[in-house]
Amino acid sequence: MQLQTDNRIVDAVIAGAGPAGMAATLALRKAGLNAICTGPAPGAESVDRRTTALLHGSIRFLEKTLGLWDSLAPHAAPLKTLRLIDRTGRLFRAPDMMFSASEIGEDSFGWNIPNAILTAGLMEALGGQFVPSDGVIAMTDEENGGAIRLRLADGREYLTRLLVGADGRNSFCRKNRDIAVRQWSYNQAALVCNLQHERPHRDACTEFHGASGPLTLVPLPGDASSLVWVETPERARELQGLNETDFLTALTARAGRVNGRFISAGPRAVFPLSGLIARRLTAHRMALVGEAGHVMPPIGAQGLNLGFRDAADLADCVAGADDPGARAVLANYERRRARDVWLRTNAADLLNRTLISNLPIFQLARALGLGALGVPGPLRRAAMRQGMSTINQ
Ligand SMILES: Cc1cc2nc3c(=O)[nH]c(=O)nc-3n(C[C@H](O)[C@H](O)[C@H](O)COP(=O)(O)OP(=O)(O)OC[C@H]3O[C@@H](n4cnc5c(N)ncnc54)[C@H](O)[C@@H]3O)c2cc1C
Repeated sequence: MQLQTDNRIVDAVIAGAGPAGMAATLALRKAGLNAICTGPAPGAESVDRRTTALLHGSIRFLEKTLGLWDSLAPHAAPLKTLRLIDRTGRLFRAPDMMFSASEIGEDSFGWNIPNAILTAGLMEALGGQFVPSDGVIAMTDEENGGAIRLRLADGREYLTRLLVGADGRNSFCRKNRDIAVRQWSYNQAALVCNLQHERPHRDACTEFHGASGPLTLVPLPGDASSLVWVETPERARELQGLNETDFLTALTARAGRVNGRFISAGPRAVFPLSGLIARRLTAHRMALVGEAGHVMPPIGAQGLNLGFRDAADLADCVAGADDPGARAVLANYERRRARDVWLRTNAADLLNRTLISNLPIFQLARALGLGALGVPGPLRRAAMRQGMSTINQ
């Protein structure tokens, strides 16, 4: 598809080989497009030791649309129960709560999978449709408006009718099209690692809500869980620097012996937290997917789930279209995604802010809101279904 060799136009170029970009490429190919993905290979700079809780809709997308779930499932653990434990120590505290997927007739809320396994599976499925590069560095519209000419860092050029900006939170594509963003940062960072513990987790995800942020233990296969511990950036760095014994002692002081004694912790990494919403998800012959369009704190496991919904919806919009970058196709994508992106990003932001806010009114609102979900009934079930972030439902 290289312009110099055969002068053909590629239906779609996806800039960014993160999980959202790779999933979007595969989904667009399933929709019949000649699509390629380009950017640095995942893990090229550092190994991503995080895990991702993929909710029901994302699992269905991986299974039914991309046909990948069967090979990924053995490396993932189901999330059958969600426990929320309030450790804020505040005057207005939410009651401890337990949600079970069986309450809404499901086997699980989703599955937790190591990012390295997920991205390796997506990359393998991409095969020769992945063009390794140091990224897209220039884009210009062809004079007739029928395509975009892209230049990669090594000088190669492509002509495409649709550019998918999946190039992460600092998206070159988004900036090039002058799409404004609303962005914010938190005085928080997430410390992540994988833990071995003494007793089985029984497929239960446990989220402790503390005054600096949530601490979440998410099941992995075996007697293991991934940890996402949100603290102030200073405290997160301090925890990262502790030796393993002191780290496990600090963790036990915060989380107790929820799955028995913590036995060991893998390498620790720290991620500063921030939020971002792009004012538009489309521009001339371009659509944004994943963190190029929305970034949120890791509360409620929504980030990549939202990115997968972008990919699935974009594939639906282009399927059968004569021109995948046509204005009407992109307007449809914008219509389908804008509300979901806005609602989920703001909900994660609000939930996070009510957790860390020192204002009693916020603390009361959070306690009442979560308390209402503790009562069995339609509101609780509706919230559980919404939280599962289904695709195409
Ligand atoms: C601690 C933590 C825990 C999380 N847990 C969950 C969870 O449980 N569930 C969940 O759904 N989400 C979770 N998330 C969110 C999730 O990790 C992100 O939403 C997801 O990784 C974003 O993927 P992406 O493909 O959009 O972006 P990225 O992974 O950032 O990929 C962007 C890619 O674009 C490339 N690139 C950059 N510039 C260019 C260019 N000019 N040209 C080409 N390529 C370029 C980059 O090299 C990169 O490979 C978590 C996030 C954090 C921080």
